[in-house]
Formats: sequence, C-alpha cells, structure tokens
Amino acid sequence: MRATLIYGAGDVRIEDVPDPSLREPTDAIVRVVRSCICGSDLWPYAPREATQQGDRIGHEFLGVVEEAGRDVSGLKAGDLVVAPFVWADNTCDFCREGLQTSCRHGGDGTHTVLECVGLKPAIETAFAVVRNGGTVSRVGAPQYRDVPADFGVFFRNITLTGGVAPARAYIEELLPDVLAGRVEPGKVFDRTVGLDQVPDGYRAMADRSALKVLIQP
Ligand SMILES: [Zn+2]
Repeated sequence: MRATLIYGAGDVRIEDVPDPSLREPTDAIVRVVRSCICGSDLWPYAPREATQQGDRIGHEFLGVVEEAGRDVSGLKAGDLVVAPFVWADNTCDFCREGLQTSCRHGGDGTHTVLECVGLKPAIETAFAVVRNGGTVSRVGAPQYRDVPADFGVFFRNITLTGGVAPARAYIEELLPDVLAGRVEPGKVFDRTVGLDQVPDGYRAMADRSALKVLIQP
C-alpha cells in the first residue's frame, strides 16, 4: 500500500510500504477512502529533524473495513467507518462520559479540586491530581502569573475556573447555619493570639506552624 511519511522539515513523501495485517484479534484493517491533513500534522512539518527512515504521519480518515479480527464486534467487512484521531475502546467510564480522548490507560484522579493556596506548587498539584475532564477551581489569591496550559493539559480537557470569592453573596445562605451551630467555620483557626502577639501570628503563618490565626484583642 502507499502511505505518507515525513523525513524531516518540509520533507513529506508518498511511498510504498508493507501491506497491513491483523496482529491482534481486536484489530481491523481499514482501507482509507478519504483523508485530510490535520493542523497538528503541521507541528512537526517545520521543526522535524531529518531522519533516514521517515515516519508515518496523518491520522484523520474515512474508510471501509476490509478485514476484522475475531474479537471485533460492531464492525464487519464492508462497513464505512469514521476514525477519530485517538484510540478509544468506547466502553470504559471515560468513554461512557463522552471523554474518549481520555480512554482509560490507568490512573484516575478526582473530579473537582479546590486550589485554596494561591502559590504555584499548589496550582501544579491541583492539575496533577484532577481527573481528566475534571475541574480545578481556585480561590487562593494567585501569587503566580502562569498556570499549566501545555499540550498535555490541553489534551486532558480540564476546566480551570474560580476567582476572588464574592463572600457577601453567601451571607444570607450560610450565616443562619453558622449561628445555629450547624456549620463551624472557626475550625480552621489553630492559633489564637492577642493584639500584642499579632507579629508572632504573622511569623507562625509564614513558617506554616499555624494554619490560620485568630486575633482576640
Ligand atoms: Zn475507553
């Protein structure tokens, strides 16, 4: 068969390559009838280092199933198929949620992460522990300018949201529970100081020996 290979920057060739064969019982061989050049195919087009052997390139196509392995279900020879640009089994929990780009390869994470600190290691940790397709919400005043936004993060479909807490808006909803003792916001205080000890309170929070300092003048 013929295929597209890239040998280096600006050096794309059509060449004869070995015909494909079924290797796994879940494989299918698809004859490409329409394809296109993806914008991401151009990423290596300018910077690619020259190689002797060339590498296959291209990943978007329509095709007809020529042959299907014995464990392939839902497809048979002669079917016209559309190939998205990532592999997905369409059965795992990510696929069932419509996030086939994160088809399970191990690893998980949590759906929602609150970043309440505002320092760069905290936002990096938040992105590290959030599940693909999940949300990072930040309420810590950011002491950093950049958030993780590289290709790896883009590919995970993470939502970054949050901002300064509009605390006033929650008073009517939350204050009755606080006054009734059903919610204890004061649990966060782990140190109490008088007015003269306020400088000590700053030092304690700065060196992390106190989480939050209550001042009782
Ligand atoms: Zn899947």
